Amino acid sequence: MTDLERRGDRSPVPAGWTYAPAPESTEIVSLQERYGLFVGGEWLEGAEHYTTISPRDEAPLAEVAQAGEADVHHAVAVAREAFSTWSALAPSERAKYLFRIARILAERSREFAVLESLNGGKPIKESRDVDLPLAAAHFFYYAGWADKLEYAFPNQDPRPIGVAGQIIPWNFPLLMLAWKIAPALAAGNTVVLKPAETTPLTALLFCDVLRQAELPPGTVNIVTGDGRTGAALVDADIDKVAFTGSTEVGKAIQRRLAGTGKRVTLELGGKAANIVFDDCALDQAVEGIVNGIYFNQGHVCCAGSRLFVQESIYEPVVEKLKRRMATLRVGDPLDKNTDVGAINSRMQLDRITELVEAGQAEGAEIYQPPCRLPERGYWFAPTVFTNVAQSYRIAQEEIFGPVLSVLTFRTPDEAVEKANNTPYGLSAGIWTEKGSRILWMAERLRAGVVWANTFNRFDPTSPFGGYKESGFGREGGRHGLEPYLSFS
Ligand code: NAP
Ligand code: MG
Repeated sequence: MTDLERRGDRSPVPAGWTYAPAPESTEIVSLQERYGLFVGGEWLEGAEHYTTISPRDEAPLAEVAQAGEADVHHAVAVAREAFSTWSALAPSERAKYLFRIARILAERSREFAVLESLNGGKPIKESRDVDLPLAAAHFFYYAGWADKLEYAFPNQDPRPIGVAGQIIPWNFPLLMLAWKIAPALAAGNTVVLKPAETTPLTALLFCDVLRQAELPPGTVNIVTGDGRTGAALVDADIDKVAFTGSTEVGKAIQRRLAGTGKRVTLELGGKAANIVFDDCALDQAVEGIVNGIYFNQGHVCCAGSRLFVQESIYEPVVEKLKRRMATLRVGDPLDKNTDVGAINSRMQLDRITELVEAGQAEGAEIYQPPCRLPERGYWFAPTVFTNVAQSYRIAQEEIFGPVLSVLTFRTPDEAVEKANNTPYGLSAGIWTEKGSRILWMAERLRAGVVWANTFNRFDPTSPFGGYKESGFGREGGRHGLEPYLSFS
């Protein structure tokens, strides 16, 4: 028996015991007071501005331009002009620029990681060890494809489509930018990208990387602003929309685009099932459950927010899970020991709070480990609900926060049926020692990505995307090039 188990109380660590603070210095980041729009390789002055803050303490960080319709149209016209040069460049030359961007991102990764955590609230250890390495890896990966499109799509004469309008969310700001920009450029398109309103700063710092890489002006343009800027981009003279965000806005975009001939890919919400069978490696599964829902405060479209536990192991799983949750350190995103950082915005915090209250009102049982939340900023304790019925809002709606709903099943058939009982279909997880069961389940789960004995694993070579209300189109891998190419 380990010391922890012998202690027998509910808390696996002595009361009052804690890590010493290990704050990452923010000195490496130098912010401008005010940012304009990055168009044609230049900074254009915006007419209106808003303040972007840090969710950890609500401190203002910088003024950011709110691009209006005319600004967006101008950026698109500039991208259109740049298209003739960029698409005519030898593919091996395009690849060199992408490699250069990848290398600069890797070199400046600490600066980017600190800024990502500062503006978005995610723990520095995640920005540092996940977001930044993956963002650079995406550019490296697609750089490799730029001069091999003929081999990726033989006898199909792959050609770039023109100007891509790209709209991204706030949960993985730089990584989503990389997912969007890298394949678009590799395929020979030019880009106008709108970052999320609450997390524009790493996209703006990325403009500096583009200049350092001497990317031809106008190839990538960044316009900041809120949903209105996104809507203007959808309506502008672009050839393709690539959107990641909520199902609601995704549907609105699809309606707007109907009949226009513009191409579209949508990466929307999710309500993933993480399914634990009684023959699994239990401690490993508990780590996977925790990673599945508390990674990035649960602000993850593929988060494992519905846990399905086989009835025979329900009690040990829930007990181990609660003990593990008590060791999660919630707090300053810039502290290297932090596991769960700040909620991205007041709006998101309100949404999480509302859904958690609905869960309690509907009769689910809530557990939150004792943790002291900072007074300023936006915080939510890691939360788990038991006694959840499939019809509850917390089992149906995407919460996009550190909130897990636990349900049970008896047979694999029942697990599949319950897991698929959602309008979404982005991802799923299976925990079992039995290989044949993994294959049997994966075949039947209506989800774009199915993880086995792991969760939230990403790799640029692997296609990612949804079914049903989680959207359509794939990002990553060879598949990720297709939406940016036309074929004969
Ligand atoms: P969202 O409103 O869909 O935002 C995604 C992006 O679209 C942002 O850049 C947003 O700008 C922009 N946008 C908003 N309205 C638009 C419109 N009418 N036309 C074009 N673009 C528009 O999502 P959110 O407000 O960030 O979060 C709301 C919910 O979406 C979350 O609770 C979560 O459930 C879901 N979500 C899913 C993902 C995912 O990865 N699948 C990511 C983030 C959020 P603003 O930033 O100014 O809103
Ligand atoms: Mg929004």
